[in-house]
Amino acid sequence: MPLYLYPKSPFKHNSEIRAELQNEMLRLIGHVDDTVFNDVQARLDCLCSWLCSTPKTTTFRVNNLVADTETVVKEITKELSQVRTNRYFPELIVVSCCDTTVELNFQYLPKEIIVDSICGTAVLRGAHVFAPGVMGIPQGLQVGDTVSVYADLTGDCKKGFNKRYVSPYKVFLGNGVLRITRNALFGATVKSPSGIAVFMTDVVSRLPSLSDSVLSKGSALLQNLPSIICSRVLNPLSDEIILDMCAAPGNKTTHISDLMKGSGTIVALEKIKSKVERMRIQCNEFRATNIQIFCFDSTKAVSEVKEKIFSNGPPYNAESFDRILLDVPCSALGQRPQLTNPITVAQINSYVPLQRKLFSAAVQLLKFGGVLVYSTCTITVGENEGIVSWALRTYPYLRLESVRKNLCSLGLPHIGASGMEISGLTSEESKNLCRFGVESDSVGFFIACFVKTIAET
Ligand code: SAM
Repeated sequence: MPLYLYPKSPFKHNSEIRAELQNEMLRLIGHVDDTVFNDVQARLDCLCSWLCSTPKTTTFRVNNLVADTETVVKEITKELSQVRTNRYFPELIVVSCCDTTVELNFQYLPKEIIVDSICGTAVLRGAHVFAPGVMGIPQGLQVGDTVSVYADLTGDCKKGFNKRYVSPYKVFLGNGVLRITRNALFGATVKSPSGIAVFMTDVVSRLPSLSDSVLSKGSALLQNLPSIICSRVLNPLSDEIILDMCAAPGNKTTHISDLMKGSGTIVALEKIKSKVERMRIQCNEFRATNIQIFCFDSTKAVSEVKEKIFSNGPPYNAESFDRILLDVPCSALGQRPQLTNPITVAQINSYVPLQRKLFSAAVQLLKFGGVLVYSTCTITVGENEGIVSWALRTYPYLRLESVRKNLCSLGLPHIGASGMEISGLTSEESKNLCRFGVESDSVGFFIACFVKTIAET
């Protein structure tokens, strides 16, 4: 049985998680015969190796409230060459990895830097090494030295480690040029080091790295294609009242603001205070002036008092919003590449009850005729098709819209595959869903779109 996560990963429960995913799929599909069983095995094998690999492209979303796409393309092409735009999504810029004819230096060098696995994933996706991600740097290295960069998969390399780190669980990411001294990273007076620590020149994923300084403030951000599509499926109109229920870091919120050309109203709720502060900064930088941000638990966003005044903020009266984005907290197993993932089976299973609670609040807050988009960045069936099946049974007045038709009606191509066929959904319903998986070059993602119809009496 192949390991669920990165082939070198040491986590014992990798195979436990794979078994859990398999059991969940089989349970939700129902009627399991040998063919279904083998099909599920093959699907999972494919999915697991896809999750461990890096997408071959990076996508940027231009914030047209601040800059036009042409200007941002010019900025990016100062550093990178494989840049293209998309005629359907004017806000999208795609940067491709360089092909194997381009010679890169993947030699293991004697001077080594160790980064944590989060930083490692970012490097593989086209980031330089930023100071907070560095764990180990041997004594004696100089600014300007060419170094090999490794990710520590175990978390055993402690911050400030000062020798060459030896472990079977370090993964080579590529080579680059050191931009910072050990003292500037770990010196006694340094509180929170910042800036580029290693300027990556040769990354094993072959994705080129872009310096943050190339983009002018608020003009664009790195955003995965399915997330960009998600806000497009919501299709906010400029005179509407929109609710973004799980908003931080605000990447979709600012996209929605851009799609509304800064008009109408967006209410953005986020439960964690520190995330709210960072989101306010991002919204300012993005000149997204139609967003009202509140630190609030969205499961409690429906007012118990009738006739609550909207401008007083949450909670809100039922049927207050034209469209709602519910981009729920989830097990996030769609992130690529997965170098390590210490998530447990219990943690994976803890999300569905919260997602249902949030969904129930969303249904109440939505106006009749309003649109609700539910999305996750995970691959489990329970958090995706399972929630849709539960929602259609619990709220019979919800109509499941076809994501494909929805995009077509906006003149956009359909990207992504149908949902999985499970026992609680008809084949037609599964086809109405949108799942980003092995056939796509992005991260794992799921989108469902509902309309709240007039309740039948
Ligand atoms: N939509 C965001 C974006 O595109 O930038 C990403 C949202 S992330 C998947 C989910 C967010 O929901 C997290 O920031 C998390 O802190 C927040 N969250 C979790 N439970 C919540 C709750 N009960 N109410 C509001 N926000 C919540």
